[in-house]
Amino acid sequence: MAEIKKKFGSVKRYGARYGKRLKDKVADIERRSKKPSKCPYCRKLSAKRMAAGIWQCKKCGSKFAGAAYYLEEKVTAAKAEIEQKAVIFKSKKSAEEAE
Ligand SMILES: [Zn+2]
Repeated sequence: MAEIKKKFGSVKRYGARYGKRLKDKVADIERRSKKPSKCPYCRKLSAKRMAAGIWQCKKCGSKFAGAAYYLEEKVTAAKAEIEQKAVIFKSKKSAEEAE
C-alpha cells in the first residue's frame, strides 16, 4: 500500500483538538499569510505580515496598512469587482443611448 503523507504544517501545534475542518481552514490562512506578498510601493515580492492588517516591506522598508491576512488577493478581488461594475455600467449606458 502506498504511504499517505499528511502535512499538518503550522496547525500541528493544536494537536488532536478543534477538528479537521477548522484546522484545515487555519492552515490555509496561515500558509497564505506567511508567504511574502507584493509591496504596493516597490512592487517586489517582499511585503511581510507584521500583525493583523499591518504589513512591512523588507526591501524598501515601508510599513503600511492592508488586509488582515493576505495582501494581494483582496486587492485583486476588489479590482475585479470594480471592473465588473464598470462593465455593467457601460452596458446600461449603451442600452440607454440605443433607445
Ligand atoms: Zn517595498
